[in-house]
Amino acid sequence: MSTVQQEISRRRTFAIISHPDAGKTTITEKVLLYGNALQTAGTVKGKKSGQHAKSDWMEMEKERGISVTTSVMQFPYADNLVNLLDTPGHEDFSEDTYRTLTAVDSCLMVIDAAKGVEDRTRKLMEVTRLRDTPIITFMNKLDRDIRDPMELLDEVETELNIACAPVTWPIGCGKQFKGVYHIHRDETILYQSGQGHTIQDVRIIKGLDNPELDEAVGNGLAAEFRDELELVMGASNEFDQELFLAGEITPVFFGTALGNFGVDHMLDGLVAWAPEPQGRETDSGAVEATDPKFSGFVFKIQANMDPKHRDRIAFCRIVSGKYEKGMKMRHTRIGKDVRISDALTFLAGDRALLEEAYAGDIIGLHNHGSIRIGDTFSSGEDYRFTGIPNFAPELFKRIRLKDPLKQKQLQKGLIQLSEEGAVQVFRPLINNDLIVGAVGVLQFDVVVARLKAEYNVDAIYEHVSVATARWVYSKDAKKLDEFQRKAEQNLALDGGDNLTYIAPTMVNLQLAQERYPDIEFTTTREH
Ligand code: GDP
Repeated sequence: MSTVQQEISRRRTFAIISHPDAGKTTITEKVLLYGNALQTAGTVKGKKSGQHAKSDWMEMEKERGISVTTSVMQFPYADNLVNLLDTPGHEDFSEDTYRTLTAVDSCLMVIDAAKGVEDRTRKLMEVTRLRDTPIITFMNKLDRDIRDPMELLDEVETELNIACAPVTWPIGCGKQFKGVYHIHRDETILYQSGQGHTIQDVRIIKGLDNPELDEAVGNGLAAEFRDELELVMGASNEFDQELFLAGEITPVFFGTALGNFGVDHMLDGLVAWAPEPQGRETDSGAVEATDPKFSGFVFKIQANMDPKHRDRIAFCRIVSGKYEKGMKMRHTRIGKDVRISDALTFLAGDRALLEEAYAGDIIGLHNHGSIRIGDTFSSGEDYRFTGIPNFAPELFKRIRLKDPLKQKQLQKGLIQLSEEGAVQVFRPLINNDLIVGAVGVLQFDVVVARLKAEYNVDAIYEHVSVATARWVYSKDAKKLDEFQRKAEQNLALDGGDNLTYIAPTMVNLQLAQERYPDIEFTTTREH
C-alpha cells in the first residue's frame, strides 16, 4: 500500500448528532481527552467555573452556552487519526449542521437514555439517510435512572427505522450502575463514579460466569443480569459490518459521558468499523478517496474566528489525494489555479500550520472573498462536487442602520455573513432595502451581534412583509426575462446574486407559481 493509501485508511471522519442536552458537548470533551487533545476535560457549560470546551469559540456561544459554529478537531486514537466535526446543537443553526453532515463518513448518535429518541435526533437521522451514513449509537446518562434498555432499542428501531445491535449491555443504572458487559469481548467492565475528568483505571472481569462478577456487583444483581442478557441476546440483532456500512444497522453502546465511562468502547468501535474516508459525487462522475489527485469541497465558511486575525476561513473537506504545503489547486467555480501554502488544521480552536493532509481531513483555507460554500478545489479538472444544500429561509426582517453613513459596511458584512452561511441576505430589485432571511430566529441576534463586533456597525431590525422565498430558474431565457419584468416588485438577489422570488404571503407565491408555469420555484439551492 502506498503512503497516501495508508494515511487515508487510518482516518475516520465523523460528527455527533443528538437532541440538545443529550450530552454531545460532554462526549466531545471525553473523546478529546482520549485523543490527548485536552489534559483534563473541563466542564463546558459550567459558566461559574469559567471553563469552556475548546470547541466553543465565540463570546456569543459562551454567553448563551450554545455552540453556534462548526469546529473541527483532529486527534489520534489507537493507530488511527480521527476527525470530529462539531455541529451546532441548537435547531436555529440546522443549515450548518446539515452541510457538515455532507462532510463526514459516519455519525455518532447520542441519546439521553432517560428520555429516548427526541425530535432533533429524528430530524438529523433523516438527513443522514440521504447518504445512508453509517450510525453508531451511544446511550448516555446511565448514572441516572434510565428507561428500560430493551425498550430504548425498540424505540430506535421503530422510530428511526434502523436495526440495533448492542455491543455492550448495562448492569443496573442510576445509583445501582455497576458497569457494562462487552458482548463481543465477553468481559465486564466495572464502573467507578467520581472519575469523570480522567482516563480511569478500570477493573475488567473476564467471562460472564466468572464468580468475581457476583462478588463485584452482588449475587442478586449478577444473576438477574445473566437472565436479562440471555433474553437480550435472543431478541436483538448481531452486529453486521455490511449492514452497518449501508446504514441499516447501528452498534449500540451504553455509558455515561459525564462519568467518562463507555466512551472508549464507542471509540474502539468507531475505529474498528466506521468507514475510512469515502469518495463523493461530482457533476461529471464519482471521485474516489484513493484517487491520488487532490480534490475537496467547501462546506462551511466562518468569519473572524479569531478576533485578532480578522480573517475568514473556508473549511474544505479533502475528498481525494493529499494536500501539501505550497501546492497548486484549481478553484473550479472561477476556473483559476491558486497556490496554497497556509492551510490550517484545527485542534479544537488552537491553530497550527499544516504541512500535509489527506482525504478525510478538513483543511482551513484563508478566504479573501473568492471562496463560497459548495466550491470545489481540484488538481486541474473542472468538475464540481454536488449535494451541498442551501435552504429557503422562513423568517424575514428588514435590517437598518442606526448610522446611515455605514451602509457600505453593513452590506459588506451581510454579504460575508451570508457567504459563510450564518444568514441569508436579499436585495430587492426595486429598492435599496436589505432583507435578512433566517431558518431559525436566533440567527437574527447572532447577526446583529456579529455586525457590531466584527464590522463595527449598529443595526436594528424592522418588520418586513415577506412570508417566504424561493429561488427561481427557467431553461427558457426569454420566459425568465419576461417573468423578471412582470414580477419585478417581488424579485431580489441573494448574497450570491441568484434571483429569488420573495412572496408577501403563501397565497401570493401559489398564484405566481400558477401564473408562470415555465418558471421553477425551489426551496433548496445547491451551491
Ligand atoms: P449537549 O447539549 O448535547 O451538548 O449536552 P451537554 O454535553 O452540554 O450535556 C447537557 C447536560 O447533561 C449537562 O448538564 C451535562 O453535565 C449533563 N450530562 C451529560 N452527560 C451526562 C451523563 O452521562 N450523566 C449525567 N447525569 N449528566 C450528563
